[in-house]
Amino acid sequence: MSFSATILTLYPEMFPGPLGISLAGDALARGVWSLEAKNIRDHGLGRHRTVDDTPAGGGPGMVIRCDVLAAAIDANVAQDDPRPKLLMSPRGKPLTQSRVREFAAGPGIVIVCGRFEGVDERVIEARGLEEVSIGDYVLSGGEMAAMIVLDSCVRLLPGVMGKEASGTEESFETNRLEYPHYTRPREWEGRPIPDVLLSGNHAMIERWRRAESERITRERRPDLLER
Ligand code: SAH
Repeated sequence: MSFSATILTLYPEMFPGPLGISLAGDALARGVWSLEAKNIRDHGLGRHRTVDDTPAGGGPGMVIRCDVLAAAIDANVAQDDPRPKLLMSPRGKPLTQSRVREFAAGPGIVIVCGRFEGVDERVIEARGLEEVSIGDYVLSGGEMAAMIVLDSCVRLLPGVMGKEASGTEESFETNRLEYPHYTRPREWEGRPIPDVLLSGNHAMIERWRRAESERITRERRPDLLER
């Protein structure tokens, strides 16, 4: 019943990687979520376990073959598996906190990591892969993008973050960026903590934080205010 992640990749040895430490790693060790990284190359063709070929129509680079990737998916994901099947891709829908929440509330995710120029279009259609992007820049492979998707999901699983409440006040949860944080010392290099935060007046603190959220969002991400 715990959140289960299956990664299809040419580099399974990259996992759990950074997901094996801190919050996500502790939760993994406690069985709050599970992770399996499967090698697409196990389904490669011939003696060299070939997974890619040159692009039809010409052009640079190599493309992951549809038959090989489909075999990897079919061998590791049952037909009635309820988990969404994602393909990390710069062409995908940008990942948002609300989509992350949906993933985290479900049974888990299957993530296909591309490499080279990407994957043959036909397997995306035939296996119903949902293309997801982590931002408008190009990585050399989908693995680090997959880790980002997983990290954002895992921290929302029940019992992973210390305080259940943390999470709901954060950036993006209300289409606002978060207010500034301070902690001791009270004054540092001539910079004091804003008085209001030391006032003990919770209504005033609440108001100040809301105003700061608005101000920072207006300055940095006015697009969020229109959502
Ligand atoms: N030729 C492709 C880029 C391929 S990059 C294009 O121009 O769109 C190689 C792989 O890295 C991709 O298949 C994808 O799995 C991953 N990748 C690269 N950038 C990404 C991004 N912004 N978000 C998610 N995955 C990305």
